[in-house]
Amino acid sequence: MMNDFMIDVDNIRKDFPILGREVYGKPLVYLDNAATTQKPQCVIDCISDAYRNVNANVHRGIHFLSQEATDMMEAARENVRSFIGAGSTEEIIFTRGTTESINLLASSFSAAFLKEGDEVLISGMEHHSNIVPWQIQARRYGFRIKVVPVTDTGELDMNAFHSLLNVRTRLVSITHVSNVLGTVNPMSEIIREAHSKGIPVAVDGAQSVPHISVDVRELGADFYAFSGHKIYGPTGIGVLYGRKELLEKMPPYQGGGEMIRRVTFEGTTYNDLPFKFEAGTPDYIGSIALSSALDYVRGIGLDKIAGYESELCSYAVRRLGEIQGIRFIGKAPERCGVVSFMVRDIHPSDIGTLLDRLGIAVRTGHHCAEPLMDRFSIPGTVRASFAFYNTFSDIDTLVNGLERVIGMF
Ligand code: PMP
Repeated sequence: MMNDFMIDVDNIRKDFPILGREVYGKPLVYLDNAATTQKPQCVIDCISDAYRNVNANVHRGIHFLSQEATDMMEAARENVRSFIGAGSTEEIIFTRGTTESINLLASSFSAAFLKEGDEVLISGMEHHSNIVPWQIQARRYGFRIKVVPVTDTGELDMNAFHSLLNVRTRLVSITHVSNVLGTVNPMSEIIREAHSKGIPVAVDGAQSVPHISVDVRELGADFYAFSGHKIYGPTGIGVLYGRKELLEKMPPYQGGGEMIRRVTFEGTTYNDLPFKFEAGTPDYIGSIALSSALDYVRGIGLDKIAGYESELCSYAVRRLGEIQGIRFIGKAPERCGVVSFMVRDIHPSDIGTLLDRLGIAVRTGHHCAEPLMDRFSIPGTVRASFAFYNTFSDIDTLVNGLERVIGMF
C-alpha cells in the first residue's frame, strides 16, 4: 500500500526475509533499528555472490580475481564517496564501524594535534563510542574534554556551546542524531560557529546517515563516521570520512600490510590516503555489500525515507502519548528515528522482556549513553526505533502490547 511518501511498504517488506519470521509464535515486530537494521535480499545475495565468484585478497595480487575484487572494493569506495558527497575517494576510509572510525580519529588526531592544555568539545548526549576514545587519548596527551549540556527537552544547550568554544578548543566531536533522544542536532550551526574560530568538527553519523540525506561538503564536516550495519549493510564495515588536508597530517592508526610504501628495519614510509589508515586485509566483501545497501537505499530515495519515517515517528509519539503514566525522554522538535520513554516507575528491562514475549523487539537500558541517563536521573529507557519497512500497524501493536504489559504491574 502506498502512503503519502510513495513508499510501497508492503513490497519493500518482501525484500527483507527476516521480517517474515515469527518469534514465540507471533509475527516479528522489529523496532530495534537504531541498534541494527535488517538486510534486504540484494545485500545478502551480494555477500554470497562475492564469496562464490570473486573472492581473493585485494590490492596485492596481479591475478584476475584479486584485480576484480580490488576493482569492486574501490568501486564501493567511490559509491560511498558519492553517497555522502565527499570530494575524493582519498577521504573515504573503511573501518569496522562508527566505533572504530572514532577510535581511529581520536588516536591519530590526538597524536597530530593535541597537547596538554588543549580541549576537545563533545556533548552530553554522546554514545560511549564518542566519549571513551577521547578519554583514553586525553590521559595520554593531557588535553581536557568539555561537555555541552543537554536541556530538559533533550536538545543541546546552544548558549553553553557558544561559551564553551574558546581558544583552547582544538576539535568539536558531536553526534548528528542522538541514539537515545532522536534529537537532530543543529550541525550546520555548530560547524559554522566552530569554523569561524578555526576549529574542525567531527560528526558521529551512526544515526543520521540511514535516515537523512547527508552531504559532508555542504554540511562542512571535517570528519564524519558511520556504520554499515545501521544502513541495511553488513556488520563489520563502516566509514570514516576525513578532509584530506587533515588526514594527511595525521599518523597511521595501525601498522601492518597495505598501509606502507616501503619497509626497512631502519624505518618505514607510509602509503597514500586512504590506504595509510587501512592496515591489513580489509573487509572487502563488507565494502562491496555496503555499496549494494547504499544502492538499495538510493533506489527508494532518502527524501522519501526521511518523510515516511518522520510520519511513523510522529504517529508513535501521538499513540504512545495516550498511555497513562508514560514519560518521553527527548522532546526535541527536530528528531528522527527514535522514541525513548519510561512508564511510571516500571523498570525498562521488565517492559522490554514482556514485550519480547509478544514478538515485539525494542531496546531497553542505557543505550551506551550512561552520562545521558545520569542527566535525566533514570536507569534507562524503552526505545522504539524505526526503519522504512516499519508500518503504522507495528506501532499499534507496540501500543497494544504496552497496555497489556503495564496492566500486569
Ligand atoms: N554512535 C551512535 C550515535 C550510535 O548509535 C552507535 C551505535 N549504537 C555508535 C556510535 C556505535 O556504532 P557501532 O557499534 O556500529 O560501532
